[in-house]
Amino acid sequence: MADIFLTNTLGKKKEKFVPINSDKVGIYSCGPTVYRDIHIGNLRTYLSADILKRVLTYNGYKVYHVKNITDVGHMRTDPATSGPRGAGEEAAIDPIIDEALKQGKTPQEVASEYTKKFLDDEKVLNIIPANVFPKATEHISEMIELTKQLLEKGFAYETRGTIYFDVKRFADYGKLSGNTLDKMDKLLGAVRVATETDKKDSIDFALWKKAQNDRSLKWDSPWGEGFPGWHIECSAMSLKYLTDAFKDGEFNHEQSRRIDIHTGGEDNIFPHHEDEIAQSEAATGEKVVNYWLHAGFLLVDGKKMARREGNVYTVSDLVKKSFNPLAFRYLTLTTHYRSRLNFTWDSLKAAETALNNLYRELTGYVTNGEVTSVNSDFEKKFVDAVNNDLDTPAALTLVWDLVRSNMPVGEKAATLYKFDEVLGLDLEKVAEEAAEVPEEVKKLIEQREEAWKKGDFSESDKLRNEIKGKGYEVVDTPEGQKLKKVVS
Ligand SMILES: [Zn+2]
Repeated sequence: MADIFLTNTLGKKKEKFVPINSDKVGIYSCGPTVYRDIHIGNLRTYLSADILKRVLTYNGYKVYHVKNITDVGHMRTDPATSGPRGAGEEAAIDPIIDEALKQGKTPQEVASEYTKKFLDDEKVLNIIPANVFPKATEHISEMIELTKQLLEKGFAYETRGTIYFDVKRFADYGKLSGNTLDKMDKLLGAVRVATETDKKDSIDFALWKKAQNDRSLKWDSPWGEGFPGWHIECSAMSLKYLTDAFKDGEFNHEQSRRIDIHTGGEDNIFPHHEDEIAQSEAATGEKVVNYWLHAGFLLVDGKKMARREGNVYTVSDLVKKSFNPLAFRYLTLTTHYRSRLNFTWDSLKAAETALNNLYRELTGYVTNGEVTSVNSDFEKKFVDAVNNDLDTPAALTLVWDLVRSNMPVGEKAATLYKFDEVLGLDLEKVAEEAAEVPEEVKKLIEQREEAWKKGDFSESDKLRNEIKGKGYEVVDTPEGQKLKKVVS
């Protein structure tokens, strides 16, 4: 297999990807919290993981992909107000319960409604579904089991029904984000809040939280009724689905517990993934995740998305403005996944124009002949691009180099279809559908051919206009008439 290089946030270097098993790769992606529509920033992160998965598959790996659904509130505050731990992380209102109360529904109803909407959003963007979408509420026992392990091993402590992770016991803390213990003390000095008096140290975080009496989403545990912290769900579910860490519901000490790749957004690095590493590695006693990949932020008009700014867009906002959602997919491909992507309506429009031009070119190729074989020179360059830390901007440059080349059209079409296994732009579907020339247009072409032979140029021009009226453009070439579907 060809070499693949990925930038590992752990170590902050581009590294050659070496899988745990020769031809299988396990990926865990942090999924959505399902209490409102996910926005295009979330989707940019999921699109990056989709490209990763498609590139691995393109290279011949079998990928097993796990993406969790957070359906119990984890108390994450608005990104704008969160900072070093302590700035309200434990004090915010559970967003799922809050939304349920507002809508007069149960938290389960709210979670299932938005889970469905999330899956629909992924579908219209051609994001290949994960093999499994585990729900946090269905893995409470694994989270309790993991919390028990951390208590037994001395990495956690209980204070009045709440279990905290004792961060200072985990010497490697900070290896992902750079927020090491010495730096954290300084960071947190400024934000200590009164609600945290239960903790031994303000850098500690909750694994399990005691439930207030009137809380609706809560479970029995060895420490009384409560609910899990956010970070523990990803440790529990990644270990459960990608390793042998659990056996018959019990923690299994015998097996190796390695995971190939973990993905998320740049905003997940700290505290979420730093805390996940602390939990998983303290519980198992070994390094768990080999490669951490993070997608950069999506900015809107150069600014961070924020509800109070009114610039938090969803897929339905794009559709309302009559955009093809795949134009957004194209837009994300124009920027490297680790870079920040600046979304503007103009940039989306430009992406849609480029995508339509590509559809039009391809339809022209397919309308005029057989799809033949993949061009190996271009394919090699394409693999080199995407295997180089998923360089999709370079891959798109190759797409347009290919379009402008003088390669036979059947070969162009075959090569673009092959590239689309990674790009996911529906190239084959759109081109094949558009290339189905209706009988009436075929007849007009024949009549024009006849008129041309007779030298009746005015009849020929008239027929050309008639064909145009049916959505096809006729191009005269040395080999005869060629048709191009007019894509609006
Ligand atoms: Zn997560």
